[in-house]
Amino acid sequence: MVSGLLQATVLGATGSIGLSTLDVIARHPERYEVFALTAFSRIAELRILCRKHRPRYAVVPDGGNARELQSQLDSDGIRTRVLVGEGGLSEVAAHPEVDVVMAAIVGAAGLSPTLAAVQASKRVLLANKEALVMSGALFMQALRDSDAVLLPIDSEHNAIFQCLPGGYSKGLSRVGVRRILLTASGGPFRQMPLEQLAAVSPDQACAHPNWSMGRKISVDSASMMNKGLELIEACWLFDAQPDQVEVVIHPQSVIHSMVDYIDGSVLAQLGNPDMRTPIAHALAWPERIDSGVSALDLLQTGRLDFEAPDHLRFPCLRIARQAAQDGGTAPAMLNAANEVAVDAFLKGRIRFTEIAGIIEGVLNKEASVPTRCLADVLAADAQARRLASRWLHDHDR
Ligand code: NAD
Ligand code: MG
Repeated sequence: MVSGLLQATVLGATGSIGLSTLDVIARHPERYEVFALTAFSRIAELRILCRKHRPRYAVVPDGGNARELQSQLDSDGIRTRVLVGEGGLSEVAAHPEVDVVMAAIVGAAGLSPTLAAVQASKRVLLANKEALVMSGALFMQALRDSDAVLLPIDSEHNAIFQCLPGGYSKGLSRVGVRRILLTASGGPFRQMPLEQLAAVSPDQACAHPNWSMGRKISVDSASMMNKGLELIEACWLFDAQPDQVEVVIHPQSVIHSMVDYIDGSVLAQLGNPDMRTPIAHALAWPERIDSGVSALDLLQTGRLDFEAPDHLRFPCLRIARQAAQDGGTAPAMLNAANEVAVDAFLKGRIRFTEIAGIIEGVLNKEASVPTRCLADVLAADAQARRLASRWLHDHDR
């Protein structure tokens, strides 16, 4: 903290969460300075972000992109140094001068830099739920072995965190928690006739009714795999058993999740569906700062509805709950198979309704084994990707 300002690295800066994070940071130049920004494909946008935020480092996936961006930034007169690949990501996540790391890379690719930030005892703002789903036991052990502070960005987990008392990490029952109520919007297909689901397009799946997000998480929300991943995420973050986490559909997305206590109290966190609220909360915690999000108008909202999830419509929720119960490598395989299936759906190779079958097929083929080290997790991830890709290959013939 050389300048007295908190130094922030944003992993996945060009994404939906990355841009929302930079929006909040830019509102507080008295608190934060951007230390590093990373991008995978939108390099032209990264250049614009570097011009605006003037980070010390930028990270891109390969040498060709790096040389091009470096010469552009040099000619812009910007002194950002461009680094490359996984090594570059981990360097800016763990750099001694960094205070805060926003982990907002999508998917398994975010695991190693996020772990590097934890091991380097940073304040880690965790949006990348896939990292925790894959390697929960090892990730939480790394957290205990470090002085890192992990703050959840996923709106549901941020809400639960806000509704729990200090000391919850000693066990939910010790602080009187009966259940966690994980709310879900139900996505764009909550009410679509079941027989129409097979024909939905990627753009329809990405048109979320309440949230604006990246395409992968949007498809996950439409299949409710997102809620399944979030169930696993909640178990790790709050040391809960899968049967202590109940999923409730709440179509307005105004309540972001709830905690039910043994005395009958239910605490909820409410707000407009805008990720800048959990981002600002986690950036400033335990203080509060302006996020740019407008005040919730309950009279305008009018009503708050709740319903049980329909398991016939959303088989991914059942499959994910089973993986949570099986533990070991099952969640890593679930996540990897889902990443392959969602990518294939987004590229028009499979139907929306085939996503769940691919994932279940992979999990049925490969038994879960305990995860003793990161290599076990990465092997399970690779094996699930192989099996899912083989399924796609057979399907295409
Ligand atoms: P996005 O697709 O908009 O952005 C993803 C970012 O990751 C981009 O900056 C991209 O360049 C980078 N990236 C992609 N593949 C990469 C790779 N192989 N290596 C390095 N970088 C790579 O996604 P998003 O919606 O911002 O979501 C980011 C993460 O946050 C996801 O894990 C998602 O589940 C989680 N999340 C998002 C929201 C939301 O509202 N968008 C809410 C809760 C949690
Ligand atoms: Mg969420």
